[in-house]
Amino acid sequence: MEKSAIRILVVEDEDDIRALLLFNLRKDGYAASGASSGEDGLRMIGEHPPHLVILDLMLPGMDGMAVCRKIRGNHDTAGLPILMLTARGEEDDMVSGLEAGADDYVSKPFSNRVLLTRIRSLLRRNGTLDEERIEGKKLVLGGIELIPERRETRINGRKVELTAGEFKMLQVMMRRPGIVFTRNQLLDLVRGAMHAVTDRAVDVQVAGLRKKLGRAGNLIETVRGAGYRVSSD
Ligand code: CA
Repeated sequence: MEKSAIRILVVEDEDDIRALLLFNLRKDGYAASGASSGEDGLRMIGEHPPHLVILDLMLPGMDGMAVCRKIRGNHDTAGLPILMLTARGEEDDMVSGLEAGADDYVSKPFSNRVLLTRIRSLLRRNGTLDEERIEGKKLVLGGIELIPERRETRINGRKVELTAGEFKMLQVMMRRPGIVFTRNQLLDLVRGAMHAVTDRAVDVQVAGLRKKLGRAGNLIETVRGAGYRVSSD
């Protein structure tokens, strides 16, 4: 299944954390929605079951453990992957979360990267996410065609040679049209393929990429003070 079809429900009463989680999950390509209480979360799961739940342990009213048991106790949702959010260093929390039936846990404050890695492995474990297929998927947008398995780029059918870094950067942006990528994110995403490690290096790479793409290069937009994106129109 493609990431955009994977629904993740975030059950978290702290508005800031919930908003941040939703933002990061969407940016990573998932379809994410949020609930601010366990009761709301269970209602949403009942109406439209997600593929994974991120569940805060400390919730007002029904707490995370109770929500977890409810999910496990219902035969429709018993196998739903649950990632529990626990307080830092509270080993008891972690143990009770796992005992209540969570598949994994992340303690607060968590890094976005760690969280996304855990989510990915839970989704892979049950076969929801098949990344190899997604990685190899051909991308087509505004005359640009990327064929990852052959690492080939074509502009209106004509082959263009891109460096590994340029290809990776374009691939990442084309997968999420309209989404802004900061220079740091682009740097992170292509670090393996690029030797340069400064913000300025990303600008140089993007400039080089645009030049090679010719007119199609206009698709890569500079978002002032933020970064770059591939136009979604
Ligand atoms: Ca909480």
